[in-house]
Amino acid sequence: MRLDCLGSGFAFSHGAYWSGFLLDGRVLLDCPPQTLPHLFRLDVPTSAVDLVLLSHEHSDHIGGVDLFLLEERRAHDAAAERTNPLAIAGPPGIHDRLREVVGTSSRLPDRDDPRIAWFEQRGGSAFEWAGAQVECVAMDHAPDIDALGFRVRLPGGVVAYSGDTGYGEALLSLAEGADLLIAECGGDREHGHMTWDHIRALRAAVDPSTRLLVTHYDPLAVPDSARGLDGVELAEDFATYEV
Ligand SMILES: [Zn+2]
Ligand SMILES: [Zn+2]
Repeated sequence: MRLDCLGSGFAFSHGAYWSGFLLDGRVLLDCPPQTLPHLFRLDVPTSAVDLVLLSHEHSDHIGGVDLFLLEERRAHDAAAERTNPLAIAGPPGIHDRLREVVGTSSRLPDRDDPRIAWFEQRGGSAFEWAGAQVECVAMDHAPDIDALGFRVRLPGGVVAYSGDTGYGEALLSLAEGADLLIAECGGDREHGHMTWDHIRALRAAVDPSTRLLVTHYDPLAVPDSARGLDGVELAEDFATYEV
């Protein structure tokens, strides 16, 4: 199973794009602002994407949905219909939040439009789409919004994706039994993100058979002590991983 890194930075990173991934060529893990040009760079049309998983409403995670959907409309006007319908999943209220971002434009179909299936999920819920089984786990990010981590089971394995979160039991349960855990490291910022010390603790707590890939960090602010940690890989923009 292939994983393409569309960005590895956090909102205020120096020199890295905002964190996002394309899993198995068809599942987007978050949709940061640069998603569309980076899909083009990979020669992946939006119609190849079955499922967009949005961890939470912060703009470094949903800022690319607008142009992704505009390209969807543009491509469909010019070419054949999708054969694989698109689903977008996120916490409760994610469609309303996107409506605020996109405005009244028809590029964001209404919630009941059959062109897009919406899964507004609470922590502890699960759903299936296009052969992907997705478990949603409530993460500990910001007090005023819902944030989800996702466990995605595909024929090639299980990938867990933290979105934004602080360290704790929710993250450990998200990681349990996963082949790969993609975990954020917001650095030494406020509550609701992880520090490099948390990454060390996470590595020690999670089964050694689970690969750990760190994302959502500032590449110019990685302390020397956090480089070369055993069993910890740092995601890099445009890198491809085999899971
Ligand atoms: Zn973020
Ligand atoms: Zn956030």
